[in-house]
Amino acid sequence: MSRIGCDLEELTSNAKQIQDDVLTKILKANANTEYLRRFLQGSTDKELFKKNVPVVSYEDVKPYIDRVANGEPSDIISGNHITAFFRSSGTSGGNQKIFPATSILSENIQILFTITSAIMYKCFDGFKQGKVIRFTFTHPISTTPCGLPLAPLITSFTKSACYKSLAKNSPSPDQVILCPDTKQSMYCQLLCGLVQRDEVVSVGAMFASVLVQVIHFLEIYWKELASNIRCGHVSEWITDLSCRDSVSTILVEPNPKLADLIENECGQKSWQGIVSRLWPKAKCIEAIVTGTMAQYIPALEFYSNNELPLVSKVYASSEAFFGVNLEPLSKPQHVSYTFLPNMSYFEFIDVNVDGGTTGEIVDLVNLKLGRYYEILVTNFSGLHRCRVGDVLQVTGFYNMAPQLRFVRRKDTVLSVYVESTTEEDLLKALARATVVLESSDLMYTGFTSYADVSTVPGHYVVYMELRAKVDYNSSTDVLLQLDNKVLVECCCAMEQSFNGAYRLFRSKDEHIGALELRVVQQGTFDSLMKFFLSRGASLAQYKTPMCINSVEALKTLEDKVLARFFSDKSPPV
Ligand code: AMP
Repeated sequence: MSRIGCDLEELTSNAKQIQDDVLTKILKANANTEYLRRFLQGSTDKELFKKNVPVVSYEDVKPYIDRVANGEPSDIISGNHITAFFRSSGTSGGNQKIFPATSILSENIQILFTITSAIMYKCFDGFKQGKVIRFTFTHPISTTPCGLPLAPLITSFTKSACYKSLAKNSPSPDQVILCPDTKQSMYCQLLCGLVQRDEVVSVGAMFASVLVQVIHFLEIYWKELASNIRCGHVSEWITDLSCRDSVSTILVEPNPKLADLIENECGQKSWQGIVSRLWPKAKCIEAIVTGTMAQYIPALEFYSNNELPLVSKVYASSEAFFGVNLEPLSKPQHVSYTFLPNMSYFEFIDVNVDGGTTGEIVDLVNLKLGRYYEILVTNFSGLHRCRVGDVLQVTGFYNMAPQLRFVRRKDTVLSVYVESTTEEDLLKALARATVVLESSDLMYTGFTSYADVSTVPGHYVVYMELRAKVDYNSSTDVLLQLDNKVLVECCCAMEQSFNGAYRLFRSKDEHIGALELRVVQQGTFDSLMKFFLSRGASLAQYKTPMCINSVEALKTLEDKVLARFFSDKSPPV
């Protein structure tokens, strides 16, 4: 780890110098690539870089990346040897993308891991000694046409040599996490986590959506898990041999007492607080709950009975790792990520709150407090001034490093007329809907939306999967008695929270029709996820889209609609 260490004080105090050095190194390595030569003619001059190299989106560099994936040399885009490719989740920004990776990535992973671990140890007493459940799933690694490995980032990391040394405190043996069958892996990760429940200090997954998915899985399998624990044998359908063998080193003997306890907790009418009840020593839930993941906050608060802080540790993507959350205890809506200047070279396009832009491009250390920016990445593996598609807001500085709040994906908006509703607007509407639902003991476990322009005027359609909080285990019956008044109110509350343009054009019913809430059967959002996974998305990186355009994905939802409700009044302008 010679490049630049993991000392947070040093990194953040010298942010300007470090960013400068990073750009120098990238230019020295990449100046003679086919891509950069077009703009710099071999020069490594930083000012020339800023003047001549265009801001691009993925589609612009895709032909170059594809050529390397098809077998042409790395130096088309990168002076460093490209050793692998990552597939992005493709659920947040639309189509799946592949990104080149070089050996520098594993250095960056180690730095990120070391820094976040130090933050957690400092914040939570006894964390270092405990076990951390990180539900992680891997995919088979495929290859590009020229034979280079291609996999989601989390899979590549989990299968890498450095993972073993970094994730030593997991209650599940590596063989369980590496098991290619997601169902067997999830079952065995739960089993190992339950057997060692007294040592577990944290329960989580990279993204909140994954953790919620695991809890839904537990709802189906808790009786079987308890029965395995009671007799000390894992179920026969766990056929992956290395997974099975490694579980038997954890589940060494019958434990009827623990089986009774699990049956007692999971058999209760409500699953409120189930995570804290099953893992009583857990100090937090580690899962990203910012951005689109905010839709899972009510579910995770419910499962932890509001007793465990929800910790969003990192902000990262397949393009680059960006930053870490220095205050794990901050509320999800106050989470900011402190950018690490040694990860990549970062620039920012100044944008207005409403999405317009002045076009001004600003360096990492020159960001202004309160302003909104779209992030650009120049990395060691061949992306130069590439738009990631995320909009962030500066909330402060730690030493010289800016701290940014994730605001939204740039492109994800609903619009049926000339209004523009952002992901952030949708999240606000969802927060309002949550309050209304809570008044009648309902919670949602899935949410997405789409702009229906087949009606005149067009209108917003919101899909929700609902459950009762108290009568959790018999929610289906409760759903049959959906309360029309509450759900209509929910539609109105969402509309009231939308921006001025929406409310204006909605007011006369001429341009925007009444918002429609379609309640779907339980399990629908799991089916939606399976649909995206069948298209190559990765479970570990899956993010339920806030809005959907794909006709096939919509069909998955449409087939499961139980009831429809409409807002019955225009929101005040
Ligand atoms: P992927 O490349 O598939 O891992 O997706 C990366 C994208 O996930 C980012 O560009 C963000 O839009 C989103 N993302 C990653 N980390 C966070 C975070 N901490 N908060 C909000 N969104 C995030």
